[in-house]
Amino acid sequence: MVGAAGGSLMLELQTQVSLQALNSFGFNSVAERYIELTQPAQLPALIDYCQEQVLPCLILGGGSNLVLSARVPGVVARVRLRGIEVVSRSQQTVRVRVAAGESWHETVSWLLDQGFYGLENLALIPGTVGASPVQNIGAYGVELKDRVTAVHVYDTLQSQFTQLTPSECQFSYRDSLFKSVDPGRYIITAVEFELFLNSDHLVLNYQALQETCATIAGSQVVTPRHLFDAVCQLRRSKLPDPVRLGNAGSFFKNPHVSAAKFQALKQTFSNLVAYPEGEGYKLAAGWLIEACGWKGKHFEQVGVYDRQSLVLVNHGGGDRIQIESLAVQIQDSVYNAFGVRLEPEPRYYP
Ligand code: FAD
Ligand code: NAP
Repeated sequence: MVGAAGGSLMLELQTQVSLQALNSFGFNSVAERYIELTQPAQLPALIDYCQEQVLPCLILGGGSNLVLSARVPGVVARVRLRGIEVVSRSQQTVRVRVAAGESWHETVSWLLDQGFYGLENLALIPGTVGASPVQNIGAYGVELKDRVTAVHVYDTLQSQFTQLTPSECQFSYRDSLFKSVDPGRYIITAVEFELFLNSDHLVLNYQALQETCATIAGSQVVTPRHLFDAVCQLRRSKLPDPVRLGNAGSFFKNPHVSAAKFQALKQTFSNLVAYPEGEGYKLAAGWLIEACGWKGKHFEQVGVYDRQSLVLVNHGGGDRIQIESLAVQIQDSVYNAFGVRLEPEPRYYP
């Protein structure tokens, strides 16, 4: 443990800390310096310290969307800010503020127990609430941006706490201000959501979800609880549990192509899976990868999951170099077959 003076606060930094249990790939990665953030007041001190020492700082949540190198230089700051509070309530809706270090899934589950509805489609996504705006998490037809009213941040450029409106966050498909426009500038301390107090707003566009909900509900009208259970059931049946098989969920984003490109592909590949989006189409990246023969393939200690080709896995002892090499091979083969370049979804660090 080393004590570092950052502004007026003493920061307790540990050195040479293993991150193996703190990243969902389970990579054997070591942080040069490590700190747990339990109160927002630590942030100005931490950022001052990093700026004075010219050290990079990785803000870590649950480590479920990261591809870490064996050595992580500078400081790793794990966000452990806790707390959920109701900010306001109307007849139809409730506004809730959740601290960044809360578990995403436990928050969704707790909100459902209170009768606060609207996040059920996003159940069982690993990680923290603070990371949820970073890639505007989405699943089964709902995105974070559909429910967010404000994001509380520490702005490292202006050295001040502030809050951003949803439009300032520039949310888009698996992306935001925090991920690609101004990465590293803002540290998210809390997120505010507007949720429904009645159950008339269920989103059931995805066929598999509709079917599973119908099975669970039986002769009853589908409720938010049925929806939550259906999402959990579907995800448990299709996705590897990172505790047993390291992974970061979908490794690539679904590519967006023009209508003309979609028509040309559809003529050659009649069973291509795609969905209209805006003026063009969203292609199912998992289908493209599977069509190139990657499903279930092993490469050194890593590989492509045998039940969902969009998920790359660590079979044990794999590392960033192997995953990156596999990802590049997949990108190249998909490009050669379809003329579409897949973009990785998790962040490589450093
Ligand atoms: P981390 O991996 O710790 O960090 C991710 C990024 O956010 C990093 O750049 C980090 O620096 C930054 N960050 C983290 N916390 C903060 C903060 N407080 N302030 C500023 N920056 C921060 N994603 C989906 O969108 N939909 C899914 O359905 C989905 N399913 C998944 C299923 C599995 C099995 C797995 C392993 C992953 C899945 N993911 C999914 C990806 C991942 O869970 C999400 O992106 C999640 O929001 C990442 O949270 P985290 O706390 O683990 O973030
Ligand atoms: P799925 O239901 O088998 O669908 C395959 C793909 O088709 C998905 O990528 C989805 O796009 C798209 N899709 C299916 N039905 C659609 C509809 N009615 N309208 C628009 N697009 C549709 O996918 P899955 O692998 O089992 O995953 C289920 C959900 O969980 C998806 O929303 C997926 O994004 C999410 N998920 C995300 C991650 C991650 O790490 N990002 C990991 C696991 C699961 P979308 O991906 O755009 O929804």
